[in-house]
Amino acid sequence: MKIAIAGFGALGSRVGIKLQKAGHEVTGIDGWPAHIAAINTKGLKVVNDAGESKRYFMPVVTPKEIHGTFDLIILLTKTPQLNQMLTDIAHIITPQTKLLVLSNGLGNIEVIQKHVDREQIYAGVTLWTSSLAAPGEIHVTGTGSIRLQAIGGGDAEDIITALNQGELNAELSRDVMTDIWRKAGINAVLNPLSVLLDASIAEFGTAGNQMELSLGILNEIKAVGEAVGIRVDVQDIMDTLAELLKPEVAGAHYPSMYQDIQGAKRTEIDFLNGYFAKLGAQHQISMPINSLITQLIHAKEDIVRVK
Ligand code: NAD
Repeated sequence: MKIAIAGFGALGSRVGIKLQKAGHEVTGIDGWPAHIAAINTKGLKVVNDAGESKRYFMPVVTPKEIHGTFDLIILLTKTPQLNQMLTDIAHIITPQTKLLVLSNGLGNIEVIQKHVDREQIYAGVTLWTSSLAAPGEIHVTGTGSIRLQAIGGGDAEDIITALNQGELNAELSRDVMTDIWRKAGINAVLNPLSVLLDASIAEFGTAGNQMELSLGILNEIKAVGEAVGIRVDVQDIMDTLAELLKPEVAGAHYPSMYQDIQGAKRTEIDFLNGYFAKLGAQHQISMPINSLITQLIHAKEDIVRVK
């Protein structure tokens, strides 16, 4: 398959390497000059858990430079960057192009629908992780999986097959919106609280009231889910959180929002707690905890920029 990865950052480049290793023709699309230059000259450096590193070569170009057509474009920008990326690569999208979004958060499908027909959209959630240590260098740990579904009701088999040729452990989701909400629920707890409490995931797990804090956020999400017909299983999310908070599982890992704040970048808060709060307001559901968390993260984004 001819595949472009739009957003060749931490996760996009990890996914890209795996697909290229499986024999797919992969091109990365990114706009960070130092990152592109490093990959195109020295290859992408991938460091694993054991500290071993390998370099991988593949073409990475800017949206302006990309040309031709692709069977599949995997969208892996940060959620607030998605609309701009789709605008910038509009010239390579044809009615036959399939677009698979794996970015976190809510609202991605609405954004993509502004650019292409619903029948071209595939959405998924992924448990693969990766972090950018420097331009052209990612650090990867453990394994992951992907669950995806065709949003326009079509068949996702060819995409699932391609992803599994790259050992990405992909499977069909029968209800990807529930999967997306479930993951957004987990992220709506771990991401902002790590920033506001200045804590790694394992450190958050040591807080005596971590369950109360998590339930406060999740019960509001459950209420708004009921209003829009999406079932949010709070107990299931709490069980997953309990697993993730174990020091042997979490290690010294900080969620991506913590890393965004450290890098003075805009966070995905409006597509997590902020999205739920907005939806709550539209349905007259009181969402005080998620609203306050959204405001606090926006304040933090402004403060780190002037520091
Ligand atoms: P990232 O910031 O490392 O990568 C995004 C890349 O997109 C950047 O390199 C940026 O330069 C590029 N980009 C954005 N807009 C662009 C534009 N208009 N033109 C050109 N380049 C553009 O982010 P990430 O950590 O890889 O995360 C991507 C998405 O995947 C996020 O939604 C994140 O929440 C989700 N996710 C990440 C992980 C992880 O471990 N990194 C795990 C699961 C889900």
